[in-house]
Amino acid sequence: MRRRGLSGLLPCWALLSAASACLPSAPGPGHCASAGGWGPGSCRGPPLSSGSRPAALPVDPVQENYVRQVRDCIFSVAYPTPFKSRVLLVAISKVVLEEILDLDVSVTETDDFLQLVSGGKVGFGFVPLAHRYGGHQFGSWAGQLGDGRAHMIGVYTNRYGERWELQLKGSGKTPYSRDGDGRAVLRSSVREFLCSEAMHYLGIPTSRAASLVVSDDDVWRDQFYNGNVKKERGAVVLRVAKSWFRIGSLEILAHSGELDLQRSLLDFIIQEHFPSISMNDSNRYLDFFSRVVSETANLIALWMSVGFAHGVCNTDNFSLLSITIDYGPFGFMESYDPDFVPNTSDDERRYKIGNQANVGLFNLDKLLQALKPLLDSRQKQLAFQIVEGYSSHYYLRFTELFKAKLGFLGEGEDDHYLIAFLLRLMEDTKADFTMTFRQLSEITQDQLKELHIPKEYWALQDLAKHKFFSDWVTMYLLRLRRNKGDSDSRRRKRMTSINPRYVLRNWMAESAIRKAEMNDFSGVHLLQQVLQHPFQRQSVAEKAGYALHPPTWAKDLKVSCSS
Ligand code: AMP
Ligand code: MG
Repeated sequence: MRRRGLSGLLPCWALLSAASACLPSAPGPGHCASAGGWGPGSCRGPPLSSGSRPAALPVDPVQENYVRQVRDCIFSVAYPTPFKSRVLLVAISKVVLEEILDLDVSVTETDDFLQLVSGGKVGFGFVPLAHRYGGHQFGSWAGQLGDGRAHMIGVYTNRYGERWELQLKGSGKTPYSRDGDGRAVLRSSVREFLCSEAMHYLGIPTSRAASLVVSDDDVWRDQFYNGNVKKERGAVVLRVAKSWFRIGSLEILAHSGELDLQRSLLDFIIQEHFPSISMNDSNRYLDFFSRVVSETANLIALWMSVGFAHGVCNTDNFSLLSITIDYGPFGFMESYDPDFVPNTSDDERRYKIGNQANVGLFNLDKLLQALKPLLDSRQKQLAFQIVEGYSSHYYLRFTELFKAKLGFLGEGEDDHYLIAFLLRLMEDTKADFTMTFRQLSEITQDQLKELHIPKEYWALQDLAKHKFFSDWVTMYLLRLRRNKGDSDSRRRKRMTSINPRYVLRNWMAESAIRKAEMNDFSGVHLLQQVLQHPFQRQSVAEKAGYALHPPTWAKDLKVSCSS
């Protein structure tokens, strides 16, 4: 497989021509790849013709870039605003560029690349778009939101036939910017860049990040909403996902009574992303809903399995493909605490980690409300049953994941109890969530049996302070003995391959950001490298203290919605 430079790739990104006023539809890979492979000139066909052409989705006929209420369309044409000052490419994800975008990493050395990923240059025959969506924010309907600082700059079908949407975040104002400046600052961009990639390597469905650039343009932010406005620098992440459609993408159409358009959007999403659902099936919206319900339950169970709190679980931040999107004030829980809230702006603690599953249900209920006008009465009834099944789906998946985290094979009648018991011990002792599971994966059964916890297993030492620790250990060892065909080394191997040693703790991101703000990006690069292999012990990571007790200065760290 010959990888291409930017000039070879770009003509193959089938993007909307403004004149055609319909949704971008990427040609299949066969369409772009000539027999001789990829290269300039190999994509000659009409960019919008494709075998499975989705229903046309309209684009806002108004093309001026000013803030407004938009109707009867899914996208508005919006061009990125170039930075005024110099821009610097801070980081790239080689894997995303090579494996998703079929690019040779050498393109990142070109000025064309820098211009493209910073929003400095458009052209290439493509019309960038901002998506119109709404959403429930912190429980209330917020009306029109939309891509207020994001631009879709391409849709690319790669050599595996996967369709990826490329989006710049922080690239300037759009019709959906409301009071915002259309920008993103360096600290939040570093967090999104690092965390989306880290989540992927943890095995959690997520958008990906291809590049991060920083400018010298001033962006003013009141980070903690306390009147302390500070000058920061504008940055842009090029992020990619198979789709950026959210629950809010459908909600806005239902709220404004644009039902034909809602049908078109749903059909497009089903056709592109749910190939097992037949377009001729009159129950296809129900099937779609059922998938979103089960996959959302799955996603939140996965978040819980690594102690991830998204921070802003509004319906506009919940993907219809059930991937993690829109990284803001997220956090990985350190001491186990179901009340952990990463976002200091979340006064009601609505999005605390222990409430994520409930909030998922709230969001799915909002999706159901949006779909209702498109369902007949029998389908509505079935949809209610589907949503009622969410809790058991979530609970099943959560249990499966936590059983695996504890190394259990097969079924044990006390498995639920053992999981709940352990979580209770962790809560009481404030044991570190990530390292408790990791150290249980590393310690031998013999060491556990003797209740001899070596010093390196600091999280287990914390846990062992609990008066019921030995009771739990006794039950746990008995249960492990019931694993059929297992050995202790097999168990440890299995558990260390799913219980990460490194997650993006707030203090780790913060250290990298503090350096980055002084133009030293070594911390970003180090974390990027380490978090690609979260399950492997790495000497650089050990040296940096990434598997140790968080430093005391990290206790007061806060993140907010300001980004
Ligand atoms: P978020 O909290 O990042 O998910 O954003 C919620 C909504 O606010 C979305 O419609 C964003 O596009 C918009 N938004 C957030 N920050 C800005 C900004 N600096 N400028 C314009 N729109 C923004
Ligand atoms: Mg958002």
